[in-house]
Amino acid sequence: MEILGKMKDSNGRKSALRNKMKILLSNEIGYCYGVEDAVEIAIQIARNNNGKKIYTYGYIIHNPETINLLQKQYGVATIENADDITETNSIVIIRTHGAKKGEIEKIRQRGIQVVDATCPFVIKTHRIVTALQKEGFFVVVFGKSYHPEVIGILGQVDLENISCVQTKEDAEKIDWKLKIACVFQSTVTFEDFSWAIVPLARKCYEFKIIKTICEVTVTRQKYSADIAKEVDTMLVLGGMNSSNTKKLVEMCKNFTKTHHLETIDELKQLNLSSLNKIGITTGTSTPMSVVEEAIEHLKIKYGAILEEETIAI
Ligand code: SF4
Repeated sequence: MEILGKMKDSNGRKSALRNKMKILLSNEIGYCYGVEDAVEIAIQIARNNNGKKIYTYGYIIHNPETINLLQKQYGVATIENADDITETNSIVIIRTHGAKKGEIEKIRQRGIQVVDATCPFVIKTHRIVTALQKEGFFVVVFGKSYHPEVIGILGQVDLENISCVQTKEDAEKIDWKLKIACVFQSTVTFEDFSWAIVPLARKCYEFKIIKTICEVTVTRQKYSADIAKEVDTMLVLGGMNSSNTKKLVEMCKNFTKTHHLETIDELKQLNLSSLNKIGITTGTSTPMSVVEEAIEHLKIKYGAILEEETIAI
């Protein structure tokens, strides 16, 4: 490596460093702003609960370690729907991905305090969808129908005038409309659904596309690809049910061998001893503590060094 070649150390020292495994970190890792705020809100409320039971509506974020921490350290419970609330002297925190409008109203009607930790970017999509329906558009949401964010978006408006399109069959089922507008789940790419644009545009008189794709996930994919092109193996740290993490895994696989790891224990099972360069990236719900643990493990087990440490030598 160029940097090592410029070092003033003895030749023996140079070759020792040259043989060390290097770790390259992607430019954007750890929580995104939406997740960071939601976790902070949950921790603050749990700490100052005034004897109230704290629930999160769905998993606050898609990271099992954070959910365990909230559960074990602060007694925060997760509910799947409004009917799961057993204690009325409680506070319900709405997850980062948001929830159906009707569900939030149902909880409020029971006199239970609701704190909305939905990511501001997702809230913006809720507002867009509501406005589009008022303008007479039939709304198509491109994304995974089972994903909490998509469920929340669909649940903002009259279900007769909105539909999720995930497959070609979903698109075929939509009848001719006067006006169709399309929005996206925040973590998909435009290319994922480009196949649906022309068929849907043919089914209406007026057609609109609003790219409600989160910039954070787009740049994270770009930075991860940059690293993946340079390393022997990528480690993508993040929840198994995290859409944006799965997307990073798929994308990194185009360039190099890639492991999707949810926990550090999974990393410990791998034998990476033959590798020279390892890249690390994370989903938007992965705390920095997990990255630090991964680096620590690679340092202890393989004597690895962070690339920035080679520059500092
Ligand atoms: S990835 Fe984007 S939309 Fe999703 S929580 Fe983070 S900032 Fe919000």
